[in-house]
Amino acid sequence: MTTASAPALRRVLTPLVDPATFDFWAQKINPLWSWDRVLARVVQVERACEDAVSLVLQPNRHFRGFVAGQHLNVSAQVAGRRTTRSYSFTRPPAADGRLHITVKQVEGGRLSTYLCTQARVGDVLEISQAFGSMTLALPPTADLCFLAAGSGITPLMALTRAWAQAGGSTPLTLLYWARTRAQLSFVNELEQLAQQHPKFTLHTFTTHERDGMACPEHDTITAELLQQHAPHLATSQVLACGPGGFVQTARSLSARALSFAGEGFTAPDLAADTKGPATVEVKLRTSQRTVTVATGVSLLEALEAAGLNPQHGCRMGVCHTCSCTRTSGTTQNLQNGALESEEGMDVRLCVSRARTPLTLDL
Ligand SMILES: Cc1cc2nc3c(=O)[nH]c(=O)nc-3n(C[C@H](O)[C@H](O)[C@H](O)COP(=O)(O)OP(=O)(O)OC[C@H]3O[C@@H](n4cnc5c(N)ncnc54)[C@H](O)[C@@H]3O)c2cc1C
Repeated sequence: MTTASAPALRRVLTPLVDPATFDFWAQKINPLWSWDRVLARVVQVERACEDAVSLVLQPNRHFRGFVAGQHLNVSAQVAGRRTTRSYSFTRPPAADGRLHITVKQVEGGRLSTYLCTQARVGDVLEISQAFGSMTLALPPTADLCFLAAGSGITPLMALTRAWAQAGGSTPLTLLYWARTRAQLSFVNELEQLAQQHPKFTLHTFTTHERDGMACPEHDTITAELLQQHAPHLATSQVLACGPGGFVQTARSLSARALSFAGEGFTAPDLAADTKGPATVEVKLRTSQRTVTVATGVSLLEALEAAGLNPQHGCRMGVCHTCSCTRTSGTTQNLQNGALESEEGMDVRLCVSRARTPLTLDL
């Protein structure tokens, strides 16, 4: 079967094939074979730093590719429950088609703990197509300033590697925060890049360690620190990634930058806004159910608490997997506080909450 004829054959066979049955039998021959699911085999597992593990994944032919700065959703059965979270590619696309991610173990975290402690070479994980818009045209036209905290280094590492591959001709300053030196990932490679590329400036900060000793929090992101270590901010494209609060601060401190793009890895703060009822009814048109949900949490969490399992991905408003149509009622966008009532518009369940009774196409 030639590559060109494969899609045509698939179209002809689609009405005749039950994907689950196809997958069941096909995966007895090769665990990566699937009618339509994007699967990836773990081909390498190695420690990236004290609390993070790097995984190399070989995807099946359904994966359509990515660019540096993007992410993918990874799903696995954890304690009998399918769990999905987002992870960023840490390397630009390579000829071998392999995908590199680095997972930082979050205390009490479901999937990060599973991936950091249980993932083994040969495991097969379900993944999504790539998503995310924090990407760069390379070589860039302006100076670059990357601000990374904790696991937020991952997409910026891919972009730093892509920048170096593109010749490293434009100045790039990377400011990277971790709690301790042992929790800095990629640090040897970054230091090497700084030696090889005169236009690359690296500053690392350990917020809970000084001279190898534990200490109270210090050296967090501030206007003074940026002024000292990224003096060309006003003429730079700034990209920031890390916990939601870090990205929010980076955004406000970069108001005078040429441009700013940021992605938060933790959920937006729920505004302590107690206006409106504590619970409301939500009608689900597709499943023809009505449930009562809390308004003080995201719709995704509220629907999960009501026993539903809506499709979702990143849980931070980035991947849009949980988007569904709101046919009536008002929701509040938790990222900017805006009230949204327009009928027939899509709502991202993970970063919206109900403010009035709702009807959703779910
Ligand atoms: C677009 C995007 C890209 C991401 N890329 C990466 C990546 O490359 N590497 C990586 O390690 N993580 C990344 N994350 C975070 C990742 O998706 C998960 O949120 C993280 O692994 C925790 O999942 P969990 O199931 O272990 O924790 P959960 O069981 O979901 O949460 C357990 C507890 O940890 C808190 N928590 C959740 N996430 C974090 C976090 N990132 N830092 C601190 N506390 C947290 C929760 O609030 C909760 O209290 C990314 C997130 C997004 C939205």
